[in-house]
Amino acid sequence: MSRPNPVLSPLLPLLLGALLISGPAHAGEAASAPAQPSPAKAAAKAAAQAEAAKTAPPPAKEAPAAAAAPARVSEEELRQRLEARIAAVRAAQAEHKPAVHKPAQVRKVAAPAAADHGGGHAAPHWSYGGDGGPAEWGKLQSGFSLCGNGKRQSPIDIRGGVKVDLEPIRFDYRPTGFNVVDNGHTVQANLGGGNSIEVAGRRYELVQFHFHRPSEERINGRQYEMVAHLVHKDLDGRLAVVAVLMDQGRQHPMVQLVWNSLPLEKKEETMSPVPIDMNLMLPEDRRYYTYMGSLTTPPCSEGVLWLVLKQPAQLSVEQLAVFAKLYPMNARPIQQASGRMIKESN
Ligand SMILES: [Zn+2]
Repeated sequence: MSRPNPVLSPLLPLLLGALLISGPAHAGEAASAPAQPSPAKAAAKAAAQAEAAKTAPPPAKEAPAAAAAPARVSEEELRQRLEARIAAVRAAQAEHKPAVHKPAQVRKVAAPAAADHGGGHAAPHWSYGGDGGPAEWGKLQSGFSLCGNGKRQSPIDIRGGVKVDLEPIRFDYRPTGFNVVDNGHTVQANLGGGNSIEVAGRRYELVQFHFHRPSEERINGRQYEMVAHLVHKDLDGRLAVVAVLMDQGRQHPMVQLVWNSLPLEKKEETMSPVPIDMNLMLPEDRRYYTYMGSLTTPPCSEGVLWLVLKQPAQLSVEQLAVFAKLYPMNARPIQQASGRMIKESN
């Protein structure tokens, strides 16, 4: 199917517009549901993932790109994905919150993470210090209780891992359009579709990535300058986060692309004029630590597969300073490992 569909083509901006309205960006590991094959299943998963959900969806620019690459995704397939996605989002909205109506052209992110919970009452304020700090997250609202009493929380100090021949993570990344948003808790890049990883027999799609300073995870007690969390989601709504630790060193070309598109205002998305190649976000050595944990931001949902790459990437002093200016400290404190199994590549 190489010719543009004359009926569908004019609808694509509308469909994507609907997605943009319905998918506010989130802090932390939360990720929006990518294309889902079954609306019913998607809706159920969306409900289960209510707290985790919803980054801003792929930028509208992605539509022509996808249409222009019929070998990978046909228009029909794209249309089906969009319809399924819209159905899932509507179902989630119907169950969990009043729909947020905004003009599509105002590319404003609806609210910080917490605002979507609890059937529409005021958004509890959460932060990294002072009022609403990590020690209070679990009490801010019932939906956040795991932040206080969860037993498989993240981040942890990674030590005592079992060394085995871990299967390599199969990265299938390609240059992709993206936008950048400062969501009030971090700087986050939302990507169009087409990037995925495969691990333990599951395929997860990359939805967004964001940063923490200093690194949330520690390796044998050591904390790094920063960390990037690459948030992936599978068709069942399960999350897998690849953590790329970041040390001071050379300038990082992909991080620079993100910084180049930093928005002037919080909660407004800036489309990058150039695509990002996430292969270049990864270090050369792809060996990793893995354990089961949680989102590191409210609602701290558990069941998240963590894949922490051993080799840190490098950022220049100037690049580190850019983020430090915005977020001098946005790392959740270390949580109890509580005897959890940690595995690491030999
Ligand atoms: Zn994170």
